[in-house]
Amino acid sequence: MTEFAGRRKRAGAALLEHEADAIIVSGLPNVRYLTGFTGSNGLVILSPGHALLLTDPRYTIQASQEADCAVRIARGSLYEAAAKVLTRKKWKRVAIERGRMTHGAFLELDEKLGAGVRLRPVSGLVERLRMVKSSSEIDAIRESVQTNSRAFDQAIRSIRPDMTETGLAAELEYRMRQNGAERPAFGCMQAGYASDMTRMLHLGRPGPQTRKLYQAVLEAQLAALAAVRSGTKAGEVDRAARKVLKAHGFDKAFVHSTGHGLGLEIHEAPRLGKKDETVLETGMAITIEPGAYIEGVGGVRIEDTVVVTDSGCEILTPTSKELVVL
Ligand code: ZN
Repeated sequence: MTEFAGRRKRAGAALLEHEADAIIVSGLPNVRYLTGFTGSNGLVILSPGHALLLTDPRYTIQASQEADCAVRIARGSLYEAAAKVLTRKKWKRVAIERGRMTHGAFLELDEKLGAGVRLRPVSGLVERLRMVKSSSEIDAIRESVQTNSRAFDQAIRSIRPDMTETGLAAELEYRMRQNGAERPAFGCMQAGYASDMTRMLHLGRPGPQTRKLYQAVLEAQLAALAAVRSGTKAGEVDRAARKVLKAHGFDKAFVHSTGHGLGLEIHEAPRLGKKDETVLETGMAITIEPGAYIEGVGGVRIEDTVVVTDSGCEILTPTSKELVVL
């Protein structure tokens, strides 16, 4: 069984829990995850034991090369083609991906299917499967992280006092692409997989308040990294970072969550926020990125991409966390 077939099998099993006959997978990262297809237009009709990829004629060759399931090329609307397949199969309970399908697509599908077929929005069916990465996915994330760090090292050499933020962003993106990335994510995106990194550089000598802020965020980041381990709740990692910033008096300046999952998308489940009850599992790829921002002083965020292990985590990001003064 291919890796993709294994994923479809697990998604099919999850479908049974929702008491649905089939699901229309419309989120492109989910389509890619289930079939390997990387095109910009595609739907998967998945039922336990069967999968059909629908795409348009531009992707006739690509879909046959990439996808390892049945493929149908539709001339015209993919939703119209999907409705025909579902009607022929006489499936009445059809799940759709809440948050992935546009309202227009929903209305079109609902109209084409007619009475008797109930569309059931479900949340996170494929996304939940995507949280724990396979070894090939971790390899892809590792490559993406390496490219990200290499591009960063190269780009910071061009920083000059009169440079614009946009100019530096362009330099960084150029370096990412030169090193093998397809595009930037917040870190970069390579072979379909994201990496994310944040570092702070100071142009000229930083003042004592900035140094204090940097030290507090660094301690919070190290505390959060130390809290990561299989079996720990995502919210506990967030609390570990928050506790350190509170001790330094900067808790009010930490206005976002401690991290997020990443993979085929830059932001995936789990979210490492205060209330997240997700239990971390070995193989999850997440970021650890506490920050603090004070008006008139500046902002500091330090972010690494890591993989959860049985005993802790493997930090993939090789870039130093020493405060760089240019
Ligand atoms: Zn991030």
